[in-house]
Amino acid sequence: MRIVLASSEVVPFAKTGGLADVCGALPGEMEKLGHQIDVFMPHYRCANADQFDIETTDYKLEIPIGNHVEEGTLAAVRLPGCNVKLWLIGHNDYFDRDGLYGENGQDYQDNCERFTFFCRGVLEAIRLLDLRPDLIHTNDWQTSLIPALLKLEYHHNPLYENIKSLITVHNLAYQGSFDSGQMTVTGLDWRHFNWEQMEFFGRLNLLKTGLVFADAINTVSPTYAQEIQTPEQGCGLESILQHRAQDLCGILNGIDDRQWNPAIDELIAQQFDLNSWPAGKAACKTALQQQFRLHQDAGAPLIGIVGRLATQKGWSLILPVMRRWLEDENNRAQWAILGTGDPDYHAVLSSLQQRFPKRLALTLGFSNELAHQIEASSDMFVMPSEYEPCGLNQMYSMAYGTVPVVRKTGGLADTVIDASLETLGNETANGFTFEDFSVEALDQTLQRAARMYYQDKENWRGLVNRGMSRDWSWSASAKTYESLYAKLIG
Ligand code: ADP
Repeated sequence: MRIVLASSEVVPFAKTGGLADVCGALPGEMEKLGHQIDVFMPHYRCANADQFDIETTDYKLEIPIGNHVEEGTLAAVRLPGCNVKLWLIGHNDYFDRDGLYGENGQDYQDNCERFTFFCRGVLEAIRLLDLRPDLIHTNDWQTSLIPALLKLEYHHNPLYENIKSLITVHNLAYQGSFDSGQMTVTGLDWRHFNWEQMEFFGRLNLLKTGLVFADAINTVSPTYAQEIQTPEQGCGLESILQHRAQDLCGILNGIDDRQWNPAIDELIAQQFDLNSWPAGKAACKTALQQQFRLHQDAGAPLIGIVGRLATQKGWSLILPVMRRWLEDENNRAQWAILGTGDPDYHAVLSSLQQRFPKRLALTLGFSNELAHQIEASSDMFVMPSEYEPCGLNQMYSMAYGTVPVVRKTGGLADTVIDASLETLGNETANGFTFEDFSVEALDQTLQRAARMYYQDKENWRGLVNRGMSRDWSWSASAKTYESLYAKLIG
């Protein structure tokens, strides 16, 4: 098969979240399975020639935007560890900026124009580069105009008429919703601005557009694929998703085990595997305690959190529980937190860190290195998400012998099996889960985890061993994508 994958983020060139990890890893797996795959991403400032081996090309893209034409460039770089080419679509005004989607918590005003340019750029580049794909795999709202452009504009051209499209929803809450006037930017006819196609409550909605026009839809876990068809989690798009239920499925993300593997991870203090984890994790924990000047307490459970400081991630539960645990002088648990996002959460976390510097290691920022170190050194990893399309961190945690404590939703429900008498007995448990989105439910579940950590070492070792021995890599999920592609292409 010949595939084109378009994404606004691809690791290691540009990343704000899990989308980048997926789009950086899946292409290499498809190549291994014998398919030709080309990847497209905007040429942001962070994807620069000083850091990466980027080749410029002489190709010039001429892209209609509203009533004028914008010129774009094409550069190329290989994805690490494979031969897949990542094509970078450049335009200085649109992409040579500090952020991917905005700065200082504000989205860029011209995001509709920037990503329309990118979507049209991908379709034009396909022709220039003579790629002849069977299918274009689009991801989230930033690339979801592509299925509509294929169906409404490009279908007359024999080069494009047979190309199928797939949209993967990594997070339904981010929809690319713009003022109706932005319809002219897309270049598509106003007659498509109706409730069955591109319009949503009077606004242009790019994700909805993708869901309507793509030949198939998938999301990143089976449970989330079901949840988004309900009013509670459908973000207003549930009826469209119900309508397309036959074309909708959930495929769990994998993890890139070349990047996230404690046996070969060069970012952590001591590498370890299934046999050597007790010593390895202890060494990593000591290193982290030293780095952040925490109490040197080898027996205290270290609770890790890495992620966006966004409501979705359950901070309204984490903060009260953390405060309660930190204020309790008999509680030895320590916390290692890495995240960035909502300024209100930044403020609360900073003040807690000032009060409890020996028990709370806090980094407000983005650091891949520290993310690896926290995964390696923590005993538990907390993820009480309100909703979670897939979640990668709980899988990284289990691969690193860190026991996840999660709310049972979306991909968390598909990957973490709660430690109960039954699941400990039949040796399937690998973590702790709770259902109620409440402070008490998180507190009690963390207490349950802490009790086992202190008092029931054998079962704790069982949880760690099961998490570490399961194959979380992409190989299984890549095969499921392969079958989906094949079914679509027929
Ligand atoms: P989401 O995509 O909703 O943000 P995921 O768990 O699917 O959540 O993926 C988040 C990815 O981003 C993980 O690879 C995680 O390690 C990484 N990440 C999130 N915040 C940070 C941060 N502050 N520093 C480093 N990595 C981060």
